[in-house]
Amino acid sequence: MSASHQIALVTRLSDEAEAEWLTLLRAALPAETIQSLRAMSQDDRADVDIAIVANPDPKDLSDLPNLVWVHSLWAGVERLVAELPGFTPPIVRLVDPQLARNMSEAALAWTYYLFRDMPAYARHQSAREWVQEPYRSASSVTVGLLGLGELGAASAARIQAQDFNVIGWSRSPKSLPGIDCLSGDDGLEDLLSRSDIVICLLPLTPQTRGLLNATTLGRMKTGAGLINFARGPIVDTEALIKALASGQVGHAVLDVFDQEPLPAESPLWDTPGITVLPHISGPTDPETGAQVVAGNIIRFRQTGELPESVNLTRGY
Ligand code: NAP
Repeated sequence: MSASHQIALVTRLSDEAEAEWLTLLRAALPAETIQSLRAMSQDDRADVDIAIVANPDPKDLSDLPNLVWVHSLWAGVERLVAELPGFTPPIVRLVDPQLARNMSEAALAWTYYLFRDMPAYARHQSAREWVQEPYRSASSVTVGLLGLGELGAASAARIQAQDFNVIGWSRSPKSLPGIDCLSGDDGLEDLLSRSDIVICLLPLTPQTRGLLNATTLGRMKTGAGLINFARGPIVDTEALIKALASGQVGHAVLDVFDQEPLPAESPLWDTPGITVLPHISGPTDPETGAQVVAGNIIRFRQTGELPESVNLTRGY
């Protein structure tokens, strides 16, 4: 490898979090020189051909004149794409089977939370009421996945394996074993009207921003549950609050918000029927994530081939 190739780690993480990533990445890529951008001289920066990033400051990337491509440590690259208008080097996002396992575990866990009426039992307990909700079997419950990509498809399969009836919606038509796969506007309407629990795992794009609004929430089954593990702006917050108040939506589990951390003054914290989670549904596993990034970089050094990169026209 030419000594003139360096890899920059460019993040807005704490020094400690960067140090942990550097240790893992250096162990996985012993032939590479990897440094935090914070520690790089101007000469070092001119040698950088690959940047490994986590929510980088766009200014920092424009300080790397010979950058060839960027590898994100996160699966979602919405913020990166939005903040780098006109950015030309390809962006590769993290596609890690471990992340898909983590997300599908959360999708199943919060499906059970809604399916076994845990929000209702918490309410009954605080009112000191002995109330038994009617039992329904998993096979009588339909779970609809919005998004059938890396995370949506893994979640659909995991939930389906627990006997739920699973349907899914994606931009292009798909075929997944045991899952009724829908697409297009009619497909969205069909999914919303059939699902007892809707799980959103779509990327945030101009097409998906505000997709779950007063009209589409109104197409959901009365009292259905909503789980948003994707990005906050896909759901119109005001419309959701109204839909919960009217009983159109029974309960919403929100892991992602328009502004994160969710501000203390947000009404979402204490709106009845909302569970607030602090963006924890699909955490990147640094150990496996570093291995995936290393594999992609080693392949690039050996063959010159890049992994599939984000399609900036499509937005994901
Ligand atoms: P992905 O592999 O790119 O899959 C995206 C899916 O959404 C695909 O099935 C795609 O359809 C579908 N889609 C995109 N635009 C659509 C549209 N306009 N109409 C219908 N379907 C559309 O993404 P992923 O890896 O599964 O990740 C999904 C999202 O999860 C990320 O973008 C990120 O926002 C979020 N995420 C959240 C966390 C967390 O901790 N909360 C962690 C990681 C990721 P096609 O199959 O036809 O392309």
